[in-house]
Amino acid sequence: MFRLSKKIQALPPYLFVETDKAKRKARAAGRDIIDLGIGDPDLPTPDYIIEALYRAAQDPSTHRYALDQGMPALRRAIARWYKDRFGVELDPDTEILPLIGSKEGIAHFPLAFLDTGDYSLIPDPCYPPYKGGTIFAGGKIHLMPLVEANAFLPDFKKIPVSIRKKARMLYINYPNNPTSAVAGPDFYAEAVEFCGNYKLILVSDLAYSEMYYDGQAPHSALETAGARDMAIEFHSLSKTFNMTGWRVGWACGNSGLISALAKVKSNIDSGIFSAIQLAGVAALEGPKDHVQNMRAIYQERRDVLVTGLKSLGWQVEPPKATFYVWIENPRKMTSIKASGLLLEKADIVATPGVGFGKYGEGYIRMALTVPAERIREAIERIRKI
Ligand SMILES: *Cc1c(COP(=O)(O)O)cnc(C)c1O
Repeated sequence: MFRLSKKIQALPPYLFVETDKAKRKARAAGRDIIDLGIGDPDLPTPDYIIEALYRAAQDPSTHRYALDQGMPALRRAIARWYKDRFGVELDPDTEILPLIGSKEGIAHFPLAFLDTGDYSLIPDPCYPPYKGGTIFAGGKIHLMPLVEANAFLPDFKKIPVSIRKKARMLYINYPNNPTSAVAGPDFYAEAVEFCGNYKLILVSDLAYSEMYYDGQAPHSALETAGARDMAIEFHSLSKTFNMTGWRVGWACGNSGLISALAKVKSNIDSGIFSAIQLAGVAALEGPKDHVQNMRAIYQERRDVLVTGLKSLGWQVEPPKATFYVWIENPRKMTSIKASGLLLEKADIVATPGVGFGKYGEGYIRMALTVPAERIREAIERIRKI
């Protein structure tokens, strides 16, 4: 009855419709589903964070509208955490902006810098809000394919010069969802140089900075010389502290980019519940063993899954970071067919790669968000197909 806006119509199609429907049907039929589809930690938020929320919520001053730019205590805690983790000093007043989850900031950021017809350079496959945010801002998308032959890094040389000139921002995300690829200092240096040459904003999504294995901690784009002139980096407490439902993250980096995002947000939201911000302070300043334990749990699950899949003759490499395993489909099936088959024959949910963009075709993504015994069970079920 009502005509949808051209922007809504331009959003990439939601390709998980069939998968979601099949999953619901299988559940309703009482089948014992092993869900490796969702990128959401299965473990609870640590108690010390919940207790901090509880204490903060009892103080009526947290019940009122929060400051748009986030509480000074949270911005200072982020600055300390950042310095400690990456060796980068940030000004808590001008270079850090708390967000209602990093997805919110990622999706709103293009409103500050894209005019109709401006391009965003976006990796594909990718986390969907890069595309959605660009479309809502009236921008156009140029896809940078992430292919195995290039270690799932974008190849800047392949971006046509005419597009480089019409582009305003470039998105990167390492450790990467969905491919689980990581990037080193050389890649960040190349990205900073490329953005410098074409006056582009470098948008780095570091949601998985703490979810790494074998002791190899990922880098921040802001460690790179010159990055602070053009980069904004998005961080999240969601995955690190099992806080996906709480909605708290932050953007940091170039002060001009941060203040422009703050301006967009001041017209849209009214800050993050102060008690959640104080719980965020507790999370960042709390004991380090939570994060270490979390890494050990995912590393065990990763090893069970990868070893198991290899025992089935599947070609998989153990991811160096994230809680995803990106698997090339055996027998050249489409990713929707492959995930459909897993559900139908083994009651296993895996995400079809094409849902993250056309260059995700040929892959499925499995998330390490179920206990190791369930992963073992999944392997045995696949063995019997
Ligand atoms: C989970 C995720 C996020 C963000 O999560 P929030 O809960 O919105 O902070 C951002 N980027 C990627 C790539 C993710 O997978």
